[in-house]
Amino acid sequence: MTKNRKIAVIGAGLGGAAAGALLQQAGYDTRVYEQAPAFSRLGAGIHLGPNVMKVMRRIGIEDKLNAMGSHPTHWFSRDGRSGEYLSRIPLGDFAREEYGAAYITVHRGDLHELMVSTLDQERLYFDKRLVNVDDNGDKVIMTFADGTTDEADLVIGADGVNSRIREKLLGPEAPIYSGWVAHRAIISAEKLKAYDLDFEACVKWWSEDRHMMVYFVTGDEKEYYYVTGVPEPEWNHGTSFVDSSREEMRKAFEGYHPTVQALIDCTETVTKWPLLERNPLPLWHDNRLVLLGDACHPMKPHMAQGAAMAIEDAAMLVRCLDEVGADRYHDAFELYRTNRFERASRVQKVSHDNTWLRHDEDPAWVFGYDVYEVPLKQLQHT
Ligand code: FAD
Repeated sequence: MTKNRKIAVIGAGLGGAAAGALLQQAGYDTRVYEQAPAFSRLGAGIHLGPNVMKVMRRIGIEDKLNAMGSHPTHWFSRDGRSGEYLSRIPLGDFAREEYGAAYITVHRGDLHELMVSTLDQERLYFDKRLVNVDDNGDKVIMTFADGTTDEADLVIGADGVNSRIREKLLGPEAPIYSGWVAHRAIISAEKLKAYDLDFEACVKWWSEDRHMMVYFVTGDEKEYYYVTGVPEPEWNHGTSFVDSSREEMRKAFEGYHPTVQALIDCTETVTKWPLLERNPLPLWHDNRLVLLGDACHPMKPHMAQGAAMAIEDAAMLVRCLDEVGADRYHDAFELYRTNRFERASRVQKVSHDNTWLRHDEDPAWVFGYDVYEVPLKQLQHT
């Protein structure tokens, strides 16, 4: 198999877009299939740590992201009620010098749009919901909900928490509802000017069983964003989000600091998302199928590293295909798993425990990681 044989990426989320872009740039004949008819600018933000900015550099969009995003000088953790500082984690210049790239926060929709724009638009297919894959040993036949089929030599499942490719490898199994929800809202910074309060660029307010993470999602600091983690024992709304309300937020954060109350007062619309997880999977690939991102290690978002892991996966997968050669895809996929399993599982665990940066700690193992420089763990051939 040479680089001009066909690779299919299922899903053009953040992991799939990264995989598609990196494969196409490396010269692989790659097509990306996305179930959505189009993408919209969903009201959410995202952190991009130096570990993921190094992949953005390779894709060629680091400068644009640096111009687009907010550059916090610190990640602050504060007691939700008293406001006392629990940790001050240096970012800004420190991150650039110590970890080799910036730490930014951006609007998720802006990031996604930019990433999707780096794909070959002729090989990006919207409205293509994969319903079946048949790996017949020589090639894979993909069937889509619109009744069409296509074939590929290798198929990458970047199709998120309800992955069809994961289901093909391991059978049907719903993700685990963690017992926590996340509220998400974007607030106009203009409204916050009415308050004599300090709205820091990146701060997490904590109490025993809940938190609110807050940051700007644009470089001009016009849009401020919060995302919470709040216990909710039952979730009966499927895997998607529902509307929440200011009243619900007030109840959930009763007794919290005036800064948090101001954010709730300024909330116009707020959505509520179930936080879903899976235990580490026993299988990441089989014959011509391989998984990445939330398809294989969905996690609670409390380290702000879920998409980062999907994007690092994409970069490592392409590195391993280049290293071993796509002809030996089984070894390439196993090398990829060998080099990703431990890190992704560790991040899943810390995210589950929700302890990340609550107190002063050294985040270098996450932020200092360079997927292109880290020495490859080799396969153990028996
Ligand atoms: P997804 O983003 O879910 O993309 C999967 C894509 O596949 C979608 O476009 C979907 O439409 C498509 N698809 C699904 N099924 C099919 C099919 N059958 N056929 C074709 N296409 C299909 N991560 C961070 O790094 N930083 C953060 O700050 C952060 N904050 C978060 C806050 C919240 C509240 C949540 C819930 C998550 C957060 N995350 C964060 C995690 C992050 O959103 C996910 O880990 C990341 O989106 C995973 O990327 P992915 O490409 O694997 O999956």
